[in-house]
This record gives sequence, C-alpha cells and structure tokens, in this order.
Amino acid sequence: MPVLSDLLAALRSGAVEIVDLTAPLSAQTPILELPEQFGQTARFELEEISRYDDRGPAWYWNNFRTGEHTGTHFDAPNHWVTGRELADIASVPVGALVAPAVVLDVVDQVAQNPDFLIEVEHIEAFVAEHGPLPDGGWLLCRTGWSARTTQAEMINRDDEGPHSPGLSAEAARWVAEESPLQGIGVETVGTDAGAAGGFDPLFPCHHYLMGSGKYGLSQLRNLDRLPPTGALVIASPLKIETGSGSPTRVLALVDRS
Ligand code: MN
Repeated sequence: MPVLSDLLAALRSGAVEIVDLTAPLSAQTPILELPEQFGQTARFELEEISRYDDRGPAWYWNNFRTGEHTGTHFDAPNHWVTGRELADIASVPVGALVAPAVVLDVVDQVAQNPDFLIEVEHIEAFVAEHGPLPDGGWLLCRTGWSARTTQAEMINRDDEGPHSPGLSAEAARWVAEESPLQGIGVETVGTDAGAAGGFDPLFPCHHYLMGSGKYGLSQLRNLDRLPPTGALVIASPLKIETGSGSPTRVLALVDRS
C-alpha cells in the first residue's frame, strides 16, 4: 500500500516525528493514593531471575509486579462500576488504540491554581479556535503536571488532601455524553482531579467516561511537543484478559513537514 510506504519514508526523513508520551516505569514511578480505607495500587517492582550468573549464565531477565493503573496507563470501561458490563482492557477495539488527538493547554491556569478544573467552556473555546473535536479521538489535557516526577510532587497533598488539576464533573459528563471523543488523557496519576474524591458524583471522569464506554490515559509526558490538533496517538496496553487497565506505551505521530 503506498500510504504505508509514504508514512515510512516520512518517519525516516523526520517529516513525521514520533513523540514518546510515556513516563519511565520503575519502583520510583508515582502512583495513585486513595483514601486509606480503600485498597491501594502497587508500585512497579522488578524481581531478577538471573543476570548472566549461576541462575542463568547467558541470559538476563526479570519478573515484574505492578498495578494495572501504575505509571502511564490505559483505563478500560470496566475499571468503574458504571462500566462494569462494558469492555475489559483486552476487549478494547484495536481501532481505539490508534486515534487522533487534540491538546488543550491549561498550563498557565494550573500554575496559578493546582486544583484548576477544565470546564465545558474551556473546551468550547478550544473548538472555536481550532475546529471540531476529532471523532473517536483523545482530548489530551496539558497541565504542566508531568514536570512533577516524585510521589510527593505528583500527589501534592496537604492537610486537606491531594491537590492536582482535572475536569469538573460537568465537563466530564459533557466529554462522555455529548462529545465525539473516545476519551481523555492527562499528566496526573489518574484522570480525575486530586480533589475529585469529594465531587458529585465521586471521581466524575471515571464515573462518566467508563459508564459511556470511553477510555482514559494517565501520567502522560511531552504534551508540550504536540500541536493543538493533528497528532495521531498510538496507545498499546497489554492484552490482560478481564483486566481493568494496563501500563501502556503511548506514542504520538506529529507532522513536521
Ligand atoms: Mn487508571
């Protein structure tokens, strides 16, 4: 097919750049913290099997343990009770794994207020400037939060709880029920704002998006290297049967021609 050979030529010449939107996965990768009465997700851990030694003289390999929602990851609809009858991570159609993306930049607002919430009006202003949201695409929320690489910086907790940006409940409902998008992507540890445990409904991005069969991407990086429109995102979660999500390598193709 000429379109694929044209794409390959564009990738090799740099006319199309591949931007890695994935955070490194290690024992230091920040994780979500829920209120203490709830079960908690695991950090990523490597367990060495052998490293060119008595346990295996010519080979190095590891086992690993991780939460499905650790690091850069993909939320499947069955992650939330509202989507419990919908797709698990292995059942997400492959067409959703290669999808267009737009980038909403709220870095300045978040710098003023770490609890900043994206409202429908912010998305409508984006549409007025850049055109319609892509059918079956991602809304990537650029907040600057990916500069925070430690657990404490990422969660940003004080006596009142965690403080990090996200969507208002109404914006989450609008994206889920009224927009043509297939999901949102964020730089924080989960798609909901730090304070969203106190919103109505609880954790509204999860409530509405999962309930509508839509998806989430969390802990993205390098959104500053994407244009407001026109990027193509490739998000490839592990095919974990019955799983609710998976650590995911997320790449974006960007036209530099
Ligand atoms: Mn998640």
